[in-house]
Amino acid sequence: MKTNGPERWLACCPAHDDRSPSLAIRETEDGTILVKCFTGCPTADVLAAVGMEMYELFPRRDNDAFRASKRPGERWVPRDVLAAIAREALVVMLAAEAVHAGRPLERVDLARLAKASGRLRGAAEEVGCHV
Ligand SMILES: [Zn+2]
Repeated sequence: MKTNGPERWLACCPAHDDRSPSLAIRETEDGTILVKCFTGCPTADVLAAVGMEMYELFPRRDNDAFRASKRPGERWVPRDVLAAIAREALVVMLAAEAVHAGRPLERVDLARLAKASGRLRGAAEEVGCHV
């Protein structure tokens, strides 16, 4: 995983036998995640390879568990919570892959990783799981 700009990453594509990172991942300002394999894997295949679905790439403004903080009496929407956690988990997973492959994490990656870590910790604490 290698940074090629703010909130951008390059990773090995999980949908084909990728030896050099050919998967570009970008998070836009509204939280939409853009995924593109330069060898042409369909985005749906890339997501399927990591157990995700297309809808998870798009933020749902009204129900986003992390963007809008929960008010008293407001209920979590399970699917949205899962989608939000899956997005953060994907960031952590890509970082783990980079570490496993011996590739250095760049500064922007580390910042995004810290953000993901904070969000996952918040989710864990919400359900009483303290680490
Ligand atoms: Zn690919």
